[in-house]
Amino acid sequence: MVKMNILKNRSLKEHNTFGIDAKAKYYIEIKDIETLKALARNELQQLPYLILGGGSNLLFGGDFDGLVVKIDLKGKRAYEKNNHVILEASAGENWHETVLYSLDKGLNGLENLSLIPGTVGAAPIQNIGAYGVELKDIFETLEAFNIQTGEIEHFSKEECQFDYRYSTFKGPDKGRYIILKVFFRLHRNPVFTINYGSLNALLQNEKGLLNARKVSEAVIKIRQSKLPNPEEIGNAGSFFKNPVITLGYYEQLKREYPEVPGYKVNEEYIKVPAGWLIEKNGWKGKRFGHVGVHAKQALVLVNYGGASGEELIHLSKEIQAGVMEEFRIHLEPEVTIIK
Ligand SMILES: Cc1cc2nc3c(=O)[nH]c(=O)nc-3n(C[C@H](O)[C@H](O)[C@H](O)COP(=O)(O)OP(=O)(O)OC[C@H]3O[C@@H](n4cnc5c(N)ncnc54)[C@H](O)[C@@H]3O)c2cc1C
Repeated sequence: MVKMNILKNRSLKEHNTFGIDAKAKYYIEIKDIETLKALARNELQQLPYLILGGGSNLLFGGDFDGLVVKIDLKGKRAYEKNNHVILEASAGENWHETVLYSLDKGLNGLENLSLIPGTVGAAPIQNIGAYGVELKDIFETLEAFNIQTGEIEHFSKEECQFDYRYSTFKGPDKGRYIILKVFFRLHRNPVFTINYGSLNALLQNEKGLLNARKVSEAVIKIRQSKLPNPEEIGNAGSFFKNPVITLGYYEQLKREYPEVPGYKVNEEYIKVPAGWLIEKNGWKGKRFGHVGVHAKQALVLVNYGGASGEELIHLSKEIQAGVMEEFRIHLEPEVTIIK
């Protein structure tokens, strides 16, 4: 018999970086597969459930009337395979500590993704990305638990269907799997991606002496100067995705706003920074009671303390409406809203 430690009416305040004081009707921490299997045979078939990592990409709109399953599976190791190195990490490992572990082992590949909050298991869900690198670039495979069948399945890169802040786990397979382990394909030989503006500028003088640790340190420095630390002020990073529009519409916008930035996706589409649209629409640095739009980064919504999820959702809708009215562009949340 597996002993289950299901807690009742548990506050989730410490489990989401917005710091929203929502309650879970039931809450359990998963530290081994056996408990997960037992849970899948019973509770997960009967109750609404939410799989939780570090809570850094979630917004609780209210209390959660079901079972919150916090994934706390631990363990990581690196080993040689053909001409590269595989880093294997369990879902409950802290993402940034895993990046540091890879640097300690002299491995290259994860450095641009330094200091992203959250866990390893959540990283493939939205194909995390920063400074020109996405998880898919160093992804080998993952192991996931099928909640319906209780089987463990493997997903290749193709099967994950990675795209910009997207994978099959946000699409057709949403809510069907619990990611248990992720395998990364890393390198002993460095191949750095430092063409991103601010990163390139910081590393200008390092060119011949560059290593993954220096890239990581530069990324950390930039992030700390631009993004609010959730331990000091509640937030979930970028609230919205950068919208992708047609080149034709972009040209039309440019006539009215010659300075509008855009990054070509392909011959047909271009990505426009959501932060620019929000700032241009006048939201940057604005505060409304407990909530607001960060003064240094318009893409980040913040909880100044004591906010409810509803207040943040209300603000996000106002921003969407303002941007739609001015630019005829829909902003889609990157953050998962739990209602
Ligand atoms: C200050 C700040 C900066 C950020 N910067 C970036 C950035 O640069 N790039 C970027 O891509 N993101 C960024 N984020 C967003 C966030 O860090 C990532 O999305 C991260 O991967 C979320 O991890 P988490 O463990 O906190 O996931 P959670 O918020 O707990 O969960 C996110 C989603 O994944 C699901 N999930 C979690 N674990 C599992 C699992 N084991 N199996 C199945 N489903 C699971 C949840 O159900 C939920 O749908 C930032 C957030 C903050 C607060």
